[in-house]
Amino acid sequence: MLSQLNTFDLWLSLSLLQIGRYAFMALIAWLLAYRLFRSRWFHRKIIQAWPGWRDISREMRYSLSSAIIFGCVGTLTLKAAKLGWTQMYFDFDTHGPWWFALSILLTILLHDAYFYWTHRWMHQPKVFRWMHRVHHQSHNPTPWASFAFSPWEALVQAGIFPLTALLFPIHPVAFGAFMSWQLLNNILGHTGFEIYPAWLIRSPFGLIFNTPTNHVMHHEKPNGNYGIYFNWWDRLMGTNHVDYEDRLAELTRPVGKTVR
Ligand SMILES: [Zn+2]
Ligand SMILES: [Zn+2]
Repeated sequence: MLSQLNTFDLWLSLSLLQIGRYAFMALIAWLLAYRLFRSRWFHRKIIQAWPGWRDISREMRYSLSSAIIFGCVGTLTLKAAKLGWTQMYFDFDTHGPWWFALSILLTILLHDAYFYWTHRWMHQPKVFRWMHRVHHQSHNPTPWASFAFSPWEALVQAGIFPLTALLFPIHPVAFGAFMSWQLLNNILGHTGFEIYPAWLIRSPFGLIFNTPTNHVMHHEKPNGNYGIYFNWWDRLMGTNHVDYEDRLAELTRPVGKTVR
């Protein structure tokens, strides 16, 4: 069990786990969208241009440094949990399968709010420069940008782990499952292609969930679309870009048809 390792081995294991998961998922997205189906899916490319290698290597370098920082915060949180300073539990039977599943859902909801509000804070001009500018160097992001944060922003992003462990009982494996969900959403949001069909976008799904278009527009024009998994915070606070819905309709229209 990870939590029984010594501090260095625990940090190394957690960092390698992050790096491996990131590399595996980003590589699949890259091979599918930028190699195999590059031409066939191009009508779904949100920004109709291909990013250069200089951008991609920067995204990889910063994602790597973020993974190492996530490993540090993960190690400290697990060590604190072992000392009984958090509500984290290690025996699956303590709370059973229902709480295990519910705790993943709660973490997703908590992180959605945490991400929206810390993200808006990071867009304050004085904070942006040293905290969030690195992530916005990707104007046309690729899946490799998923964890491309400055070390300071990586610390804020990693803060969701100790916060969750302090707020409610969570098993480390449940948190790991949440991290996979987070990475999958980050990969989808940065690959640069709109993946959802038009009928789904027009259903309540489009009101509730975020889309890749929403986040890529945030990279294009940073003064709006701050949410991550759900669109409700942006709707509630009036921070969706005014042309978000039009852009989505344009990208998801059947090939050969024009809007209106
Ligand atoms: Zn982004
Ligand atoms: Zn931003």
